[in-house]
Amino acid sequence: MLVVGLTGGIGAGKSTLAALLIERGAHVIDADALGRDALRPGRPAWHSVVDQFGDEILVMNSMEIDRARLASVVFADRAKLAALNAIVHPVILGAVAEHLEKLRNSDATVVLDAALIIETGLDDVVDVLVVVTAPEGDRRRRLIRERNMSIDDIAARMAAQTRTEELVARADIVASNAGSLEDLAREADRVWAELEKRAGR
Ligand code: ADP
Repeated sequence: MLVVGLTGGIGAGKSTLAALLIERGAHVIDADALGRDALRPGRPAWHSVVDQFGDEILVMNSMEIDRARLASVVFADRAKLAALNAIVHPVILGAVAEHLEKLRNSDATVVLDAALIIETGLDDVVDVLVVVTAPEGDRRRRLIRERNMSIDDIAARMAAQTRTEELVARADIVASNAGSLEDLAREADRVWAELEKRAGR
């Protein structure tokens, strides 16, 4: 098993590159999806988050956490963000460890698609760190167009993440997403070839 961390700033193209790597044979673990799963009603982390942030972060007349509202609360206040991370990160780490354990004796190339690989200490378990980069203007435009995010929301999230320069300094492989989706597919070919080499294939 080769464990690959795939990270980069919000909107840089992690999930898009992860999907391209699946097409080439990677097994992808989506940390964001594990986080969403951890916050489903009734889960231990759901209870902790509702205790911490109150019923007002629930969707009206529902037990679902309103993720947009929760995000706007925590990205406005670093202490609250730290409190949320302290609840959710250990659950994500546990779930990632469980997935990796299942694949340990396989010859899979496992890609961890995670915005916060360095912040959570996951970089300790990865063999290869891939960082995807894109100019900040492109990231902003894509997030506004594709995810309907506001300029303020984007700025708050970018400010809470490790700077791209630091990610690049730690990267084993840098994938550029400064062009079209076709360009990114070519980067995916290059990254995959490099991963195959590192996996000894
Ligand atoms: P991340 O996972 O790093 O936050 P995504 O992969 O979700 O970023 O990309 C953000 C948005 O930008 C997505 O909706 C994606 O479809 C779009 N996108 C990514 N790369 C490109 C590109 N090269 N050209 C156009 N749109 C892109």
